Amino acid sequence: MVTKLEPKTEGTSGACSVCGSNVTWVEKSWQGKTSLTLRNSSDQKAHNVKSGDSWICSTGNDFAGYTQSVASKAIENKVVWNEVGELSEDEQQLVGGLERVRDVAKGVTSRHHPELSDNSTTFGQINNANMGHLLALMKIKAIKDSV
Ligand SMILES: [Zn+2]
Repeated sequence: MVTKLEPKTEGTSGACSVCGSNVTWVEKSWQGKTSLTLRNSSDQKAHNVKSGDSWICSTGNDFAGYTQSVASKAIENKVVWNEVGELSEDEQQLVGGLERVRDVAKGVTSRHHPELSDNSTTFGQINNANMGHLLALMKIKAIKDSV
């Protein structure tokens, strides 16, 4: 169990407020000024490292994992979802159409890729493409039918 990172003084160890790993405040001198910096308690390496325009947590042995989780967290936090509320009749029809196209495309995708799991990302991507093809063909049919 890692304790809270307080007080902010040289030698205090505790959990990083971002990633929760065990870190220690260490005094460093640079250009005549002294300041406190966070080091990993395990290997005494710098905990906060610069990545592009932002700072990320480095835990030494598990660097890549934390890099990804902190980066994806930052992106997730910027997404804004609006409340949908009740669907109109037209919208319900469109959702029904979307689900129908999705299911019809799934049959095609399964037939052409019998070795792929329905739950795999690759299957989803191919199915997405097949939905696009189906919708394009539906548009052509609609144009032909209206002539
Ligand atoms: Zn951290």
